[in-house]
Amino acid sequence: MVKAAVLYEPNKPLVIKDLEQEDPKSGEVRVKMLYAGVCASDHHFMVGEQNQPLPVVLGHEGAGIIDEVGPNVTSVKKGDKCILSFIPSCGFCNACRSGLGNLCDTHRSTGTSRQYDGTLRLKDENGEEVYQMMKLGVFAEKIVIPESACFKIDDDFPTDVAALIGCSVTTGVGGVINQPDMFPGATIAVFGTGGVGLNALLGAQIMNASKVIAVDINDSKLEFSYKFGATHTINSKSEDPVKKIREITDGLGVDFALDTFGSTQIITQMMASLKKGGTGVIIGLAPDGDMADLDAVDMVRNSKKVLGSFYGSVTPHITFERIINFYKTGKLNIDTVIERTYSLDQINEAYDDLVSGKDGRGVIAFPK
Ligand SMILES: [Zn+2]
Ligand SMILES: [Zn+2]
Repeated sequence: MVKAAVLYEPNKPLVIKDLEQEDPKSGEVRVKMLYAGVCASDHHFMVGEQNQPLPVVLGHEGAGIIDEVGPNVTSVKKGDKCILSFIPSCGFCNACRSGLGNLCDTHRSTGTSRQYDGTLRLKDENGEEVYQMMKLGVFAEKIVIPESACFKIDDDFPTDVAALIGCSVTTGVGGVINQPDMFPGATIAVFGTGGVGLNALLGAQIMNASKVIAVDINDSKLEFSYKFGATHTINSKSEDPVKKIREITDGLGVDFALDTFGSTQIITQMMASLKKGGTGVIIGLAPDGDMADLDAVDMVRNSKKVLGSFYGSVTPHITFERIINFYKTGKLNIDTVIERTYSLDQINEAYDDLVSGKDGRGVIAFPK
């Protein structure tokens, strides 16, 4: 039996309960969770903005220690500390072979929340099968997952930091540093200063951005964003962010703007705040089915580019490695993102705090 937080119905609290768990099958491992991040993407499922087969153990940002390996596992062994990738790239599909392991076809064809053989590992007390979000479902004390989800780290690497590299750091930092057109000294606007937004600010810092403009509707979050390298902040509730960004950039607009929140209104503002030839990057997930308005003439006359960036834009393990190296050389201060620690039993409280807009990232700490 394993203790987990289960979503049975949208808009109802997660239920903490013991589930039956199968042993790892071929190519799978069991991981004892150490830390899990409280990410907004889980919340989209909790409130039904995005669809997910239910019941499900949510949580896709985490780090843990390998507790048992199934047959034919070759890349990791019992006792290894790992960052968990929520896209465990198969390595053999067209996307993986194109260097886009973050978009692995095999992962999607299994409906993302089943294991690679199409089956599930968890059952509740009524015998109902329980899905694992993105094959992980890290809001559980132990998880059975594909070995390819595991990225081994040094034993002395801080595990709370490692957990965040599993989603928000890779998504935010990777969404900036992995863009092919990115250049040192660019001007960058980051819309949204949640977990991913703060990491996008850190990414801008690594790129030596000349101006880093944070946009949010919450003054305390904007104040907090200075710690992450913001040079200017805009409260888009009280000021027009497009007008203000143009003022800050001497009328030019920014080279790059990022929507880390995921909203059609922000996407329109993001594109309007770009310099000629600038690039807008959509990182946050808007509700399913939302369509963004683009000014078709502005796009052409000003040669603007818009692109989506999922999970750092390249194979996650590659971004993990780059981020770990930046962290080890003191160039990436991820520790400061972590503001609150909860137990698994406090998970609903953790999400209430996320919704109420508390600064920084919350993490679930599991018993050692
Ligand atoms: Zn996430
Ligand atoms: Zn693949």
